[in-house]
Amino acid sequence: MSTRPIQLRKHDLAVVLQKIGPHPRPKVDLEQYTTPADLAAEILFSACYLHDDIQSKRVLDLGTGTGRLAIGASLLGAAYVVGVDVDAASLKLASAARKSLRACVDFVLGDVEVIRGPVETVLMNPPFGTKKVHADLHFLDCALRSGNVVYSIHKSSTRRFLKGWLRNRGFHREQITATEIQIPHQHSFHRKPKQSVEIDVIRITRSFTT
Ligand code: SAH
Repeated sequence: MSTRPIQLRKHDLAVVLQKIGPHPRPKVDLEQYTTPADLAAEILFSACYLHDDIQSKRVLDLGTGTGRLAIGASLLGAAYVVGVDVDAASLKLASAARKSLRACVDFVLGDVEVIRGPVETVLMNPPFGTKKVHADLHFLDCALRSGNVVYSIHKSSTRRFLKGWLRNRGFHREQITATEIQIPHQHSFHRKPKQSVEIDVIRITRSFTT
């Protein structure tokens, strides 16, 4: 069942998404970094209004966490949204937010591995692969076999590698934005609790010529 899209400005959507809390007890090994609300709104607006990848589309959010991308997609008029995550505590918050924001999303507890499309659009802010080697590529594999279009966030330092990885598999990568986000430090010996990380938001489609 689709929700009726509400007319929101990007800033208003960010304000709404900000009300959805971050991961309640972030687990370092799962690389649980909640997408900043303004960045989530930017990705959703680009997907919705520049590329027509949200309204009336089936959308999958891999590693949905507390559901910002999934709920945002529903509020912008997706036909059907599924959010998947292995962390039950985060999904509990996501379900509460879905209810209070009257979004229409099915949240599924499980590994991204268990989900198969087909959907038109996959949204994700995957683990960067800092803790579990190639966790980002595992997410990409699952996303690319499930959807026609994938929006994903990656460390800019992997840009060159990812371009080749995608090209070799017959996919085209388009840069939506490049920015910096603050994430918790991965090592206890760091003095500051957060570090700034440069990230790319990309849109991936199948290439016509490989
Ligand atoms: N999409 C959310 C959270 C991004 S953080 C947001 O926009 O805020 C990455 C998420 O991936 C975390 O919630 C983590 O629990 C989840 N995750 C990590 N490995 C996973 C796996 N193998 N299967 C499903 N979810 C996973």
